[in-house]
Amino acid sequence: MDTKDIGKPGSGKGVGFEIHRLMGELFPICRSITGDGFRRTLEILHRHIPLEVREVPSGTRVFDWTVPKEWNIHDAYIKDPKGEKIVDFRKSNLHVVSYSVPIHTTLSLEELKRHLYTLPDLPNWIPYRTSYYNQGWGFCLSHRQFLALEEGDYEVVIDSTLADGSLTYGEWLLRGETDEEILISTHACHPSLANDNLSGVGLATLLAKHMGAMPRRFSYRFLFIPGTIGAITWLAQNEHKTGKIRNGLVITGVGDRGDIAYKRSRRGNTEIDRAAAHVLGRSGQPYRLLDFHPYGYDERQYCSPGFNLPVGRFSRTPFGEYPEYHTSADNMEFVSADSLADSYEMIRSIIDVLEGNRVYVSRNQKCEPQLGKRELYSSAGANELPLLWVLNMSDGGNSLLDIAERSGLEFSALKKAADSLAKANLLEESGL
Ligand code: ZN
Repeated sequence: MDTKDIGKPGSGKGVGFEIHRLMGELFPICRSITGDGFRRTLEILHRHIPLEVREVPSGTRVFDWTVPKEWNIHDAYIKDPKGEKIVDFRKSNLHVVSYSVPIHTTLSLEELKRHLYTLPDLPNWIPYRTSYYNQGWGFCLSHRQFLALEEGDYEVVIDSTLADGSLTYGEWLLRGETDEEILISTHACHPSLANDNLSGVGLATLLAKHMGAMPRRFSYRFLFIPGTIGAITWLAQNEHKTGKIRNGLVITGVGDRGDIAYKRSRRGNTEIDRAAAHVLGRSGQPYRLLDFHPYGYDERQYCSPGFNLPVGRFSRTPFGEYPEYHTSADNMEFVSADSLADSYEMIRSIIDVLEGNRVYVSRNQKCEPQLGKRELYSSAGANELPLLWVLNMSDGGNSLLDIAERSGLEFSALKKAADSLAKANLLEESGL
């Protein structure tokens, strides 16, 4: 991080701590794809950004899906044959399979085992399991604890409700100079898991907050939604708005200590894909560019063929490539403020490219204009090359990003050159 960034809102290491602090506040809440935990999460985000809370009733048809019943949980535990609570929802909300139906019964160990989930290869960690669309119930626990269970009768209590209600999500449209939109989407449906995806929720919130205080060319639509069903619901109910989406990012898993991995949109070569490749390519750190594949997070819905939106995914280590994924080890220690700050800065740089990318036309198409008499060269001549590239390529058919790719120069240097050429009345904007 540059020292010049200190004091600029939303920049530098400080933003990593801001995101980490917000994640820590959200961490204990038991969230699911519906229910009060999701609402409580949005209430906390609302202290930072004036997002609107939307409620979509259970039973609403959304393309091939139906908004499910609303699930809420108050308590859950297992008592061993001696009457001791050995698994307690209040100690970790991962202990209960999300969407478990209510139950209060006594079972033999053998019967109980059919409802227990563990990770034999990672015996100290509690897995995260869900059963959204198959009615059932279950508990998750460490394999070490599972192996210690003795024969006898176990009392099982899940004090939950599964009833008609609604699916809740948060949305904030931050208007810019134009109504073309950048979509920022993040899933907020997981319980106490830090990287997946409180990191994405925290980063998107602070991004929204700081973008709100800056001049903007584009409008920014921030969505805090339950994974899969939330994206499908939003797309089904807002299909008429999708034509305005010029670029978008799904933000998830941005706090672990691994390298950044950007997943391209289905179209593969959209402005956001190219902006991300440009920024990461000049970041000086290892990174990966992944081609689109139809598995992953909500990019699956935004990039379904009927929408095929220019939406990529920004993550660090992709899910499934780290053992902590979907386990109790994805905790607040697994994420770092440095990684969060780095992810934030990289996303901000990608947005800077999108904001600054324009097509210009040079007013001197026949031979170069005489720059010396306009004092456009620095004394050291260091700025000459970006000026010459912008002048030469600005025939109305190349954007600044095209010029950056072709010249190998940094976008920000070309943007600066274009700004000074425009100021000297040597360039005019041709749109884009
Ligand atoms: Zn997940």
